[in-house]
Amino acid sequence: MRKACVVLLSLLLLCWGVFLTAFANRLPAQATQTTVVRVKSVAVKIKPASTKVVPTPTHATSSPVARALATPIPTPPALSGDNVNATIPAGVRENIFFNGNTSLHEIALTFDDGPHPIYTLQVLHILQEYGVKATFFCIGRQVLPYASIVAQVSRAGNVIADHTWDHFDMTRLSIAGMQWELNRTANAITLATGVRPVLFRPPYGYINTTVKDVSTRLGLTPIMWNVDPSDWRLPGTDAIVQRVLANTGNGSVILMHDGGGNRSQTVQALPQIIAGLQQRGFRFVTVPQLLADSARG
Ligand code: ZN
Repeated sequence: MRKACVVLLSLLLLCWGVFLTAFANRLPAQATQTTVVRVKSVAVKIKPASTKVVPTPTHATSSPVARALATPIPTPPALSGDNVNATIPAGVRENIFFNGNTSLHEIALTFDDGPHPIYTLQVLHILQEYGVKATFFCIGRQVLPYASIVAQVSRAGNVIADHTWDHFDMTRLSIAGMQWELNRTANAITLATGVRPVLFRPPYGYINTTVKDVSTRLGLTPIMWNVDPSDWRLPGTDAIVQRVLANTGNGSVILMHDGGGNRSQTVQALPQIIAGLQQRGFRFVTVPQLLADSARG
């Protein structure tokens, strides 16, 4: 009797073991099936709504561009523009480029705070219509999300330059902070265009000896301006046109904005500005050309 009980108990335990093993093997199969169904339904749902190419996880880690494409596109920040009246110490002012050779009938259009997904392309289209080249001082954190726009602007013969990564007041940063802002932006521009920038414009025009020295050591020449229509204040299209035409002369560097807020007035003013200056016989050149010609004395 005792032996029979032991055998019965052993049989019961064996059956329980077999049941448990079978159940455990079934669980993952069910879970996988559920996951597949869920992924499929999401894919079907998302596909028609989005025309954007979504990189696969493999691509997302394969290159910096792919990683940037995989990250959400930030909204371009609203900026208060750049202010030529920023206090610049006299000693610094003497050695910074504000304008080109005043004996040559040439000028440079410059656009800050882009790239912007709408205004930058509108500006580019107008420039191409009039056969004019300009210089674009780009904010680094916008360059990677809009890399194709930056590349398009560059391919059209315009110059892409460094306007720092975050558009901070550089005079308030540590040297390491300045280097980070400039280098990261220069790297992003190089990645987008294949050309390393050689020009830098300090946000708000805030510059001191340290900012100048740090940027120069990184191969970036600081570039200011001497014609400022304050287009970022939205004074009206006519005011922007009038201010530029009234203040432009030989060697002028004209500051306008293609990003950082509503730039529709700038875009509307641009054809009249170009036409008005062309009528006066000015030659439109990029800032590197203006720099090279100013060295001719
Ligand atoms: Zn700016």
